[in-house]
Amino acid sequence: MFSIHDEEAIKKFFSWQKIPLFRYAQIENALYKNFVFDFEAMQTIPKTLREQLIENFFFFSLTCYEKISSENGQTTKILFKTSDGFFVESVIMRHLTGRNTLCISCQAGCAMGCSFCATGKLGLQRNLTFYEIVEQVMFAAKLLNEEGVILRNVVYMGMGEPFLNYENVKKSIQIICEQKKLNLANRRVTVSSCGIIPWIQAFMNDFSQTSLAISLHAPNDEVRNMMMSVNKKYPLADLMQTLLEYEKKTNKRIFYEYIMIQWVNDSLALATELAQLLEWRLAHVNFIPYNSWEGRGGTYKAPSRIIIENFQRTLEKYGIPSTIRATMGDDIDAACWQLARKKGEEEKE
Ligand code: SF4
Repeated sequence: MFSIHDEEAIKKFFSWQKIPLFRYAQIENALYKNFVFDFEAMQTIPKTLREQLIENFFFFSLTCYEKISSENGQTTKILFKTSDGFFVESVIMRHLTGRNTLCISCQAGCAMGCSFCATGKLGLQRNLTFYEIVEQVMFAAKLLNEEGVILRNVVYMGMGEPFLNYENVKKSIQIICEQKKLNLANRRVTVSSCGIIPWIQAFMNDFSQTSLAISLHAPNDEVRNMMMSVNKKYPLADLMQTLLEYEKKTNKRIFYEYIMIQWVNDSLALATELAQLLEWRLAHVNFIPYNSWEGRGGTYKAPSRIIIENFQRTLEKYGIPSTIRATMGDDIDAACWQLARKKGEEEKE
């Protein structure tokens, strides 16, 4: 069986069965434009072909294990189970401005082990295939479509490090942005990395229009080494040099993610260091107040709002734009991939 998103497999099958290619255009239209996830319901396709398709292709390998929405309805978390028993999450965020964003996962677990991250605690379970990534997008796009809303923004900021599953991430972006398919604007798709330098270089060559976010979280090696082991392999100076090349090549603003943790990376001295690091850069900083999760919650805490605002003001003085991200969905454990971690650990026991 092959995924319906595997265009190469479908086209091979069509050529082998001598089925005209316009039939594929009909499937694409039903699937990506009208969210029909059932061959039987594709009435423009002859019955015999529908039967052949049912025997050979599937729409979803992931199953929706749980779907919960926050009390205010702004956030919906979808917990998926892979066919081999791993849990991954996607989160839909409906912003008050009317914008909506889907955050998706690209790996089950993650090898990077960042000290503040629930997913890192699981270790890497496995890479997701391109179609498992696309399925998350299709599921959410249909859900929003039923609410009369079009999915506009997708961020690869869920479980996993996208650049350690580059080929599958690449193929999934190509599918969701293809005009005949979901037709998402490239600039509205954001890939977030903790800073794997060789793959940032590959990304800038492959996707000059797609947005890049960097999990920075600290403005010097000392603090960053403590929080993110990736920094030992790819130190900050080398990362910033690569990002300068990215800016020059793409002329695009980079989003820097900065998780705010009390007494770890929230001092005004670090704010000044951060401002000096990003001054004259095409940069936008997103401050993310730390979201505690069981296991680490005792040692890490979010700073007060005043501390975060003072930090932000320091950046303002240097002309660096920033946003304090509203914590969405913490009532449903959506913000830090806690539920998938919990489920993953429960299954291991
Ligand atoms: S923050 Fe990102 S890169 Fe770090 S462990 Fe978590 S998922 Fe992996």
